[in-house]
Amino acid sequence: MKEALFYEKKDNNNVRCRLCPQLCLVEPGESGNCFIRKNIDGKLYAMEYGRVSSAHLDPIEKKPLYHFHPGSTILSIGGLGCNLGCPWCQNWNIAQPKDSFPGVSVEDVIDQSTQPLPPEQVVEIAKRYIPSRNIGVAYTYNEPFTSYEYAKDTAILVKKAGMYNVMVTNGYVLEAPLRELLPYIDAMNIDIKGFSEPFYRKLGGHLRPVLKTAELAKKSCHIEITNLIIPGLNDSREDFEGLVDWVANSLGKDTPLHFSRYFPSYRVATEPTPVETLHLAEEIAKEKLDYVYLGNV
Ligand code: SF4
Repeated sequence: MKEALFYEKKDNNNVRCRLCPQLCLVEPGESGNCFIRKNIDGKLYAMEYGRVSSAHLDPIEKKPLYHFHPGSTILSIGGLGCNLGCPWCQNWNIAQPKDSFPGVSVEDVIDQSTQPLPPEQVVEIAKRYIPSRNIGVAYTYNEPFTSYEYAKDTAILVKKAGMYNVMVTNGYVLEAPLRELLPYIDAMNIDIKGFSEPFYRKLGGHLRPVLKTAELAKKSCHIEITNLIIPGLNDSREDFEGLVDWVANSLGKDTPLHFSRYFPSYRVATEPTPVETLHLAEEIAKEKLDYVYLGNV
């Protein structure tokens, strides 16, 4: 574990985390909403620093990134925890440890479901896979901003090795930590989960900080946007038009947009997204954007 970078000490050994817009006030012995940042004796710690729940060499297109070194692979690492609570999460077993390991302490969950992989070792493995067309490291699978310190330390070393850093994220992060990390990030896929504030409230978050992350990232690195379409929740014509207009006007019409098909997972058993709905979204998007893709179809 490592002491967190963005937090402030409050009265009675409480701490206020300043990494993401949840701004959790964390009491001693407790964790924030993301589960893996814990207050120990008045200091906030990134509890799973230097550990991973999974590591794979993936095609870059799987992130999905279609316009960033197509045909290459990327060493993809993930940890535990998330700062939003999507009831249909496809990776809930690692993103929501409170549910996958009910009643188990953060220390025990980390012990049982992650392996040590210090930043130096990540870079060594990344270099070893260069003959397999590996271009760098992707921080993915769970929400990588909740492992901010690990991602940042690793990204610095990856850059020094002349390789690329990719983040696959929900974009739910505050501006100061984002700005500090962006110089090391080469590409991001940002998941815009729906284009309305009421929809984000269902996930325990807000839409505006996510849009702000994408707008800032666009000025600094390559970005692509993903939108998972869930029947009856974010699949109206207005939802698609709002998202497409924002991408076109705020990010540029050359920004790739991926519409992804939902399948039942975690707490949601609704039928998979009808393919016709994906085609409707595609049709609307293609009127204003140059690159529109459908995923999981
Ligand atoms: S990163 Fe975690 S602890 Fe910090 S504010 Fe966000 S949810 Fe809370």
